[in-house]
Amino acid sequence: DKREKKKGKKMGNPHILVIPYPAQGHIIPLMELSQNLAKHGFKVSFVNTEFNHKRVMDAFAKKVDADEVVQLVSIPDGMEDGESRNQLGKLTESICQVMPKELKKLIEKINRLEDGGITCILADVNMGWALEVAAELGIHGAAFWPASALLLALTFSLQKLMDDGLIDVNGTPIDKDKLIQLSPTTPSMHPKNFVWACLGDLSTQQVIFDYMRRNNKAAKEADWLICNSTRDLEPGTFSMAPEILPIGPVSASSQLGDISGSLWPEDATCLQWLDQRPPGSVIYVAFGSLTIFDQIQFQELALGLELSNRPFLWVVRPDTNEGKDDFYPQGFWNRVGTRGRMVGWAPQRVVLSHPSVACFLSHCGWNSTIEGASNGVPFLCWPYFADQFHNESYICDFWKVGLKFERDERGIITREEIKTKVEQLLGDNNFKGRALELKEMAMISVNEGGSSNQTFKNFTEWMKS
Ligand code: UDP
Repeated sequence: DKREKKKGKKMGNPHILVIPYPAQGHIIPLMELSQNLAKHGFKVSFVNTEFNHKRVMDAFAKKVDADEVVQLVSIPDGMEDGESRNQLGKLTESICQVMPKELKKLIEKINRLEDGGITCILADVNMGWALEVAAELGIHGAAFWPASALLLALTFSLQKLMDDGLIDVNGTPIDKDKLIQLSPTTPSMHPKNFVWACLGDLSTQQVIFDYMRRNNKAAKEADWLICNSTRDLEPGTFSMAPEILPIGPVSASSQLGDISGSLWPEDATCLQWLDQRPPGSVIYVAFGSLTIFDQIQFQELALGLELSNRPFLWVVRPDTNEGKDDFYPQGFWNRVGTRGRMVGWAPQRVVLSHPSVACFLSHCGWNSTIEGASNGVPFLCWPYFADQFHNESYICDFWKVGLKFERDERGIITREEIKTKVEQLLGDNNFKGRALELKEMAMISVNEGGSSNQTFKNFTEWMKS
């Protein structure tokens, strides 16, 4: 047993160093887990890149202070201040080159100042190098996966996919149209949506693919491998890959703390707007932290919301429309009035638990998927890339709590299609009924006696032992 290996090393008062991959969908779930660990008496240092640390602090400028239970610390990612972190190949190379030595310096500093020092590194699988640092320093290492177990099982299958002739040594799919199913009880996946195959040009793909293989190795060698999912949501995947332990949905098991980890300031005024809307009436529209729209599609979405004739709360990040007001169809806000509400960034987990919300028009990022599922909210699925399509398949084909949009010959989701699917989803109570069953399953798993709760308990007891 891997966990027995370091038995000789007594842990003392546990101090966990948590390190997410530097992206919104990775920071939030690890922050939630960190707050939960802090509530259970652990000392937690949460390490963002300096770039994201500043954004988190700015977003919560008034609330964060030195006495917060989760200590926010930072190390450089090696990129220049003004450089775009969207250049994934460059960012990855910079992370690998700079962050391991910076992390070691940080740990040495903490260890000098504190009795016992850091006892465990809890790292995002996508920061596998941090687990290598843990092994090198003789510290315990736990790997956390912030997406579906299915996606992790897929990345663990890279060698098999190569052996079976389905991808080449660079990860490029051999037959781009051949659907791949890891087991008869898991969703089929389209090779063009493999995460490494849709992240830029060939050289970027190569960098990411090698990085993933390195991360996989580190995650497999870690003392723990925990995943922000639950057995009941992905039974096929968890039985196929028993080494992955469910600990989610972390958003359902932890009360939201002051620091949510958002990189944009949350506009909580939309909660009062929601209070004034009838129960089960509002379409909540949000596309996560990365999705960018072209103007044609953006306007079609606006017109679809107008046509649906229902209240809607729409997250339009400041970088979605380049901050331009003329991105909206002419006269849109005059016609819609207070029936619609736009925010730059919402307190999404609170919004999804609000009784006024009827459905979630979502890009199907895993966090959004599991947050909607654990709040009993039916979905309208608008995936953009990578695992968002696998998540859509879970939502529509497996859990049957949502509908997919069809695109027209231009590849556009039209206003009429939006209106039709809104009516279809909200006109059939079975969607809401199944969504509530899903919520109950998710809650059972994080409550006393549930499987995710058990993982959390075993994990914390191990850290204390
Ligand atoms: N989120 C939020 N406010 C918003 C939009 C998103 O707090 O207005 C949060 C959401 O709750 C989720 C995360 O941002 O935890 C987005 O992660 P997801 O995996 O859904 O998408 P990604 O941004 O990684 O594409």
